[in-house]
Amino acid sequence: MTKTILITGSTSGIGLGIARAFAALGYNIAFNGLEANGAEIAKAVADEFKIKYSFSPANMLQPEAIRTMVADAITAFGKVDVLVNNAGIQYVAPVDEFPEDKWDDIIAVNLTAAFHATKAVWGSMKANKYGRIINIASAHGLRASAFKSAYVAAKHGIVGFTKTMALEGAPFGITCNAICPGYVDTPIVRKQIPQQAEIHNMTEQEVIENIFLERHAVKEFVPIELVAQTTVFLAAEQAGTITGVALPVDAGWNAH
Ligand code: NAD
Repeated sequence: MTKTILITGSTSGIGLGIARAFAALGYNIAFNGLEANGAEIAKAVADEFKIKYSFSPANMLQPEAIRTMVADAITAFGKVDVLVNNAGIQYVAPVDEFPEDKWDDIIAVNLTAAFHATKAVWGSMKANKYGRIINIASAHGLRASAFKSAYVAAKHGIVGFTKTMALEGAPFGITCNAICPGYVDTPIVRKQIPQQAEIHNMTEQEVIENIFLERHAVKEFVPIELVAQTTVFLAAEQAGTITGVALPVDAGWNAH
């Protein structure tokens, strides 16, 4: 039977790259994202790879919307084999200037939404005795950077959540792993450049070279396709005994 994957935040950046990689394998895909043209983006991938798909504009700030998104995917495809908690947002500011609402939203989207989606899909995965949950954490799940208090807290949090779900899922054939990418050239990174330039009093090119790639031993952005193929690897049926890991895909950042 064709497998189904639900990917949050899959109408942009890394999530869209993950969707394309699973579409190439023939998976049914439940897309989600806030992009205004999200439905068209999802349809274009489905048409290109001739797969079945659905699109939900559920806002990850809203637990009820997350539950509905998961229930709709199970209804549409009969099951969800793979859940990728990928949706994420960022804000960069010193802690004494960090807006409270930005803190709350970053924790909600980058951490709490993964709890709600996992809880919602858990019963179905348990009944099927099979599940793959993959959380797109970050190198910031393992390392800190100044001015990213909320993001680093959320990403460290999701690494802890991943380990806990690995323990709870093991008796039911459910694995849970986190991928920890270094810098990937996507809108979430592009949007930070002006904020970082102001805080560090640098040009935008200096931010790329001296802030982002400075952490990478390999002085390149991590390709979206590499994060996508790591997700494919962790989602494989053969990957049943890899669980609870936080896997750096970070151009050598964690080697420091
Ligand atoms: P992106 O901005 O291109 O994509 C983020 C996606 O999340 C979009 O589809 C957006 O609509 C969705 N999203 C944001 N808020 C949402 C909400 N409230 N409800 C529903 N969807 C929402 O950024 P990206 O780089 O592709 O980021 C994807 C994930 O990868 C994030 O969790 C991010 O933290 C993580 N990550 C990114 C990098 C990087 O350098 N780009 C590095 C490490 C980890």
